[in-house]
Amino acid sequence: MAEIIPFVDLKRQHDQIATELQSAIQGVLQSGWFIQGPKLEAFEREFAAYCQVEHCVGVGNGLDAIVLLLKAYGIGPGDEVIVPSNTFIATWLAVTAVGATLVPVEPDEQTHNLDPARVAAAVGPRTRCVMPVHLYGQPADMDPIMALAHEHDLIVIEDNAQAQGALYKGRPTGSLGHAAATSFYPGKNLGALGDGGAVVTQDAEIARKVRMLRNYGSEKKYDHQVLGCNSRLDEIQAAILSVKLRQLDLWNQERRAIAALYAELLPSHVVQCPFVPSWADPVWHLYVIRSFHRDALQSHLQAHGVQTVIHYPIAPHQQACYAAQMPGASYPLAEQLSKEVLSLPMYPGLTEAEQQRIAGLVASFPG
Ligand SMILES: *Cc1c(COP(=O)(O)O)cnc(C)c1O
Repeated sequence: MAEIIPFVDLKRQHDQIATELQSAIQGVLQSGWFIQGPKLEAFEREFAAYCQVEHCVGVGNGLDAIVLLLKAYGIGPGDEVIVPSNTFIATWLAVTAVGATLVPVEPDEQTHNLDPARVAAAVGPRTRCVMPVHLYGQPADMDPIMALAHEHDLIVIEDNAQAQGALYKGRPTGSLGHAAATSFYPGKNLGALGDGGAVVTQDAEIARKVRMLRNYGSEKKYDHQVLGCNSRLDEIQAAILSVKLRQLDLWNQERRAIAALYAELLPSHVVQCPFVPSWADPVWHLYVIRSFHRDALQSHLQAHGVQTVIHYPIAPHQQACYAAQMPGASYPLAEQLSKEVLSLPMYPGLTEAEQQRIAGLVASFPG
């Protein structure tokens, strides 16, 4: 039996920089400063520069990053937020957490990302915000969304959890909307060794508000201006992220090479490979193929030692937590995608031989 090809293997990237990671952790240990210290400040500067924006505020995780942005913009009950019908549940949960109303919009069928024409059709008098998700590391079509936002005075918050380093018409995701939220969950393109997240924006006032909200609503110790929470990016994670940020472009480049080889090797009569618009330079957080026989294909790969994952097997509106409050909701494209998508192994360190084996197995799939 051939060796198992895991769906992700973070050890392969961490082994490359083991010494740097250890000295980053050691440095924090010796400094004795663990929360809101110099490592966080340094990482915030570096990540803002990487995203080509003025401000970065580190927070506890990606979900909080979206929630705190919505709060900073004063979005809440009575406000509508346009979200993709096909996304990770966090995008939706953040909107629900602030008491705003979800307005799901179906994706473009080729890119699986927010379809600007459908967004335009969904804008109404209560719409306050549009939240594009750069799903799977593919930038959403932002220019028409920003034009629409300008016309209707809407806030655009990018959910950039899956696309750190992706480019849209040469500009980095995270710098395209009014603000962006990202996640440093370990499996993301830029992942911590635990939970983490950040907000980036050009807007100094929004950055100041998020900075207050993440730390008990205070700018000065024991002086609480607003009802905040505790959602901070700790020094150890910030120090680790600074080390890993230096590798990000290299690792994203490796993901691009892996995607190119998949596109070459995978048989197009068996599966549909991702579509990349001319203006997009994706970073391949996930390599998502489509098949009408997805479940059988997944079992076939599993039986031959190749692990795959479905992103996502249940559309958000069909999740138990939403289904009861959205009776009769129907998003056929999101539902169809949930039945056809399959994510293949995609990570720095995946070898060409492993990809050959995966592609060979897809080709030999009888379905
Ligand atoms: C991972 C992810 C999040 C949430 O990040 P956490 O750090 O896990 O809270 C939000 N949106 C999308 C699209 C994600 O993939």
